[in-house]
Amino acid sequence: MNIEAFFNITYGLYIISSGDEKRNNGFIANTVFQVTAEPAQIAIACNKDNLTAQFIQNSKLFSISILKKETKPEILGLFGYQSGKDVDKFEKIEFIKGESGVPIVTEDTIAWFECELVQSFDVGTHLIFIGLILNNDLIIPDAKPLTYSYYRNVKKGKAPKNAPTYIKKEIKKEEITMEKTKYECVVCSHIYDPEVGDPDGGIEPGTAFEDIPDNWVCPVCGAGKEDFQVI
Ligand code: FE
Repeated sequence: MNIEAFFNITYGLYIISSGDEKRNNGFIANTVFQVTAEPAQIAIACNKDNLTAQFIQNSKLFSISILKKETKPEILGLFGYQSGKDVDKFEKIEFIKGESGVPIVTEDTIAWFECELVQSFDVGTHLIFIGLILNNDLIIPDAKPLTYSYYRNVKKGKAPKNAPTYIKKEIKKEEITMEKTKYECVVCSHIYDPEVGDPDGGIEPGTAFEDIPDNWVCPVCGAGKEDFQVI
């Protein structure tokens, strides 16, 4: 299989949200497509392990927010790389509630759709949900949407592990022993400089990247240590 071939399939980037009476959750998706115009129906794919998948199945409701090209990396980090099982993502983002009560992210959002679940398909690791559009709104008519290829090629982002497009790769063990080697976060481009460290994250100046604990996360977007690469 030629993995590079898959990278030529075009996608956008979206936040899919759902919730219950007590809490909301959402995740970054690239697999969103309109399936019919009459009635207006839209499909999404969701990893079965996502907390949001449970909320969608229980509430029969979800929303889709189309992200703009200049979406803040912190939002991609929070919704793409962190689990709602660990953090309340909606404490850190602007959102509204639709008429159905479903949460809808509005921050860095061009347009949104409020959907009622009408069908779901089990495709192995993922579920495909078909939603009937109840309401929608266009918030920033002139903005350009964030595409997966722009995120991947320009922003150097990569798919979170629950994305349908994620490809598991062996981590290359490079022989890097220089204590002054800088590393860059592939999600948000934050640079870890050993001379500066990350005092707020408990890493003292002078700490080589290899010596940082494995549970350390990017201070900007929350991506894990494995999401940093040598620059
Ligand atoms: Fe980062």
